[in-house]
Amino acid sequence: MKIHHLTAEDAFASLHSGPDGLAVAEAARRLIEFGPNQVESLPLEPLWLKFLKGFIHFFALILWFAAALAFVAEWRAPGQGMAMMGYAILGVILINGLFSFWQEYRAERALSALLKLLPSQVKVTRGGGVEQVEAARLVPGDLVLLQEGDNVPADCRVVEAYGLRVNTATVTGESLPKACDAGPSNVEELLHSKNMLLAGTSVVAGEGKAVVFTTGMNTEFGKIAHLTQAPKERFSPLQREIVHLSHLVAGLSIGLGVVFFFIGQAMGLSFWENFIFAIGIIVANVPEGLLPTVTLSLAMATQRMARRNALVRHLPSVETLGSATVICTDKTGTLTLNQMKVKKLFIDGTYKTPQSLLEHPEPHRELLAAARYCHMLNRKDDGTWLGDPMEVALVQMSEQVNGVWPDLPVLDEVPFDADRKRMSTLYRTASEQVLYTKGALQTVMPLCTHIETESGSVALGTEAREALSRAEQELAEQGLRVLAFASRKVTQGEAHEQLESGLTLSGLVGLEDPPRAEVAEAVRKCHAAGIKVIIVTGDHPHTAVAIAREIGLCTAPLVVTGDDMQHLSSAQLQLKLDAPEIIFARLKADQKMRIVLALQKKGHIVAVTGDGVNDAPALKKADIGIAMGIAGTDVAKEAADMVLLDDNFASIVAAIEEGRAVFDNIRKFLTYILTSNIPEVVPYLAFVLFKIPLPLTVIQILAVDLGTDMLPALGLGTEKPHAGIMQKPPRARGERLLNRALLLRAYLFLGILEAAAALAAFFWVLHGGGWQYGIKLPHHEALYLQATTATLSAIIVMQVVNVFVCRSDRDSIFSGRFFDNRLILAGVAAEITLILLIDYTPWGNALFGTLPIAGEVWLLLIPMALAMLALEELRKWWVRR
Ligand code: ATP
Repeated sequence: MKIHHLTAEDAFASLHSGPDGLAVAEAARRLIEFGPNQVESLPLEPLWLKFLKGFIHFFALILWFAAALAFVAEWRAPGQGMAMMGYAILGVILINGLFSFWQEYRAERALSALLKLLPSQVKVTRGGGVEQVEAARLVPGDLVLLQEGDNVPADCRVVEAYGLRVNTATVTGESLPKACDAGPSNVEELLHSKNMLLAGTSVVAGEGKAVVFTTGMNTEFGKIAHLTQAPKERFSPLQREIVHLSHLVAGLSIGLGVVFFFIGQAMGLSFWENFIFAIGIIVANVPEGLLPTVTLSLAMATQRMARRNALVRHLPSVETLGSATVICTDKTGTLTLNQMKVKKLFIDGTYKTPQSLLEHPEPHRELLAAARYCHMLNRKDDGTWLGDPMEVALVQMSEQVNGVWPDLPVLDEVPFDADRKRMSTLYRTASEQVLYTKGALQTVMPLCTHIETESGSVALGTEAREALSRAEQELAEQGLRVLAFASRKVTQGEAHEQLESGLTLSGLVGLEDPPRAEVAEAVRKCHAAGIKVIIVTGDHPHTAVAIAREIGLCTAPLVVTGDDMQHLSSAQLQLKLDAPEIIFARLKADQKMRIVLALQKKGHIVAVTGDGVNDAPALKKADIGIAMGIAGTDVAKEAADMVLLDDNFASIVAAIEEGRAVFDNIRKFLTYILTSNIPEVVPYLAFVLFKIPLPLTVIQILAVDLGTDMLPALGLGTEKPHAGIMQKPPRARGERLLNRALLLRAYLFLGILEAAAALAAFFWVLHGGGWQYGIKLPHHEALYLQATTATLSAIIVMQVVNVFVCRSDRDSIFSGRFFDNRLILAGVAAEITLILLIDYTPWGNALFGTLPIAGEVWLLLIPMALAMLALEELRKWWVRR
């Protein structure tokens, strides 16, 4: 007989296990025998394909094209060094491809290493006690405890179930959740049996216990793992920008190449001369380092975020987070510490504290018993409780007041769910069966017919109901989370569906959950950064408002409850969202998603937090879904783009800061490399228009663009967020990476200054050597070689200063920390070394058509670079003013 045909007892027996689980030593032995419970994940994209992609992306294709043209030129007009240029371009494609691949590979490795920090834990009964173990350490025979939101870690046979439903879509493709029970099944197919929980599926409701019978690659999921591991592919705003930018730049460089070709033709230069120059211009204008810089920038930001407790699951999400305009956040655990403590009670018309109960616990026994028995906690070996901190606080309060309660067998449960906002448990005591219920007053009171008073239970009249509602409100206004408790005796054989009715209300309990200390500062930062924060909670509106005030989020917010929302059309909801301060409370599970959609329709980039199964759709739909690392369910984590290790709101804000830096950094990079295009192009224009000797050869252009500029540019991509980054509003949705201000600054300001310096150096050397306008200079003459060397050296000296200038478009270079970006410093050192090698070594001279220049030339170059710095400082001062 197959395991699903057996009864629960026989299933246990067949696996040599039992209701106490395996002995710890036996579990260890089985782990060796059966191996770890892991499904080897297959790489989604084979490595070779990733590698290949580095060579066939858009920029690479342009370069291939340019290289081909160079070889054609060599073939038709040999001896002009075109073959060397072709090889140089091929070299660049190769280096670029390798570097991109290496970057991406490393980033991915780092990401998966980070995600390993989040081992999925499973609750297991071993040797009679409950413990958390890593899912990978499960063995056949282990008894696992599962509840809403858990991923099923291995193939298991259910042995106890309370309202248990699983979503089996990943394995069977069925989209409706399947109800599970513990009875033997008579269906043939294991897959369709109601007592089966398959690895890779997830629990969407209820809870239960199940015994593991297959682990790792032998599970149904393991067998089809490669079919189901496709992640969601979607383009982030940054990716879209990069595509846009690539097309723009490619169009620009090819356009410029063609224009230069025809200018040359019109001026009567030889066809091949023009042809060669056109290729040079194209190559010079393609931002070769862009893609590696973007990856590097994202990867560095991811690592910094991880240090700030935010784990990113998809690399591009980093930057999306930076553009967030709204954060919809949970309350408990995210804004608050989730360290609950019972503060006040409301029993029989009066407020009490746990201390005051100590004196006379007896009249309040019903409430204390409900607090002790109505929960979904598990007890660990050492007697401590595992589960929701609120329930732990209630049990502790009950035991403090009443002393230790006996353990009672559970007969039935109606699990908590966010829509019902209540739960019940049915216990057997020595003489009877008792049902305990707890939850929001609005969902518990309607089930009650009686209320507990000092003189016994009496009918629950209108007056008492009103008094309870008022008390709930008063407690909530103090920021307390309020629960109502009720109970009743149950006669044997009552239907499960009828359990929660005719209850006797025993009182209200108010729990305190203080806000996290860092949250107020984080909220202030959000306000300064123009990011709207909206609390989205299932809790009481007054509790939410009290907490919101305490953390400085708002003063008089508009409060929209779940009930209100049901009566709002999409348009009305959108209009409500215009309110400067808004809180959503007593929300139903699916309403978070509606809020996200409405915000997106209003043009917002939405970050949303979530922990439960019900949050998964909202997490997926949001631009950035953020799951809680501690309180979050597996399902939420899988749906999210980012996981917060500490569940802390402040970490979201820290991560946004890092995300914003990425966009800024790519702009810094672009400013830097675009600047040097002008001193490369202007000399050529001067050459054709004014018939002067060519100040900079094609190979020298390539030396800058593919050589000296590369490392410093990359360094700009790794800048840390600067101090003012959270002081400006989020960038507008349609804002381009390459905007007018950037182009003007790079091309018409910095670029022109560099071009002026380059030409000045060229003419200074020529004049020093006795050249006069009109004299033709042969290309191999020493004076000419030295003059072009001076042009090249000028560009590089200017670029050394430029890299520091580009670190900010408005702050003085003296305002920040000068030496805190080591990659930039290394890049500058490399840049200087390279130019010295090019200028002063025989092979440098041979390769780049240079000749050593005199010391005085440098004495001209350096002041010119400092002059650019001074002018840029002036411009920045003007902007800041
Ligand atoms: P928050 O934003 O504060 O995290 P939430 O949206 O997660 O809140 P839920 O945990 O779904 O809110 O709780 C909603 C309401 O359900 C609570 O206000 C409370 O009245 C009730 N509730 C919460 N947890 C339990 C529980 N374990 N048992 C019974 N009722 C509960």
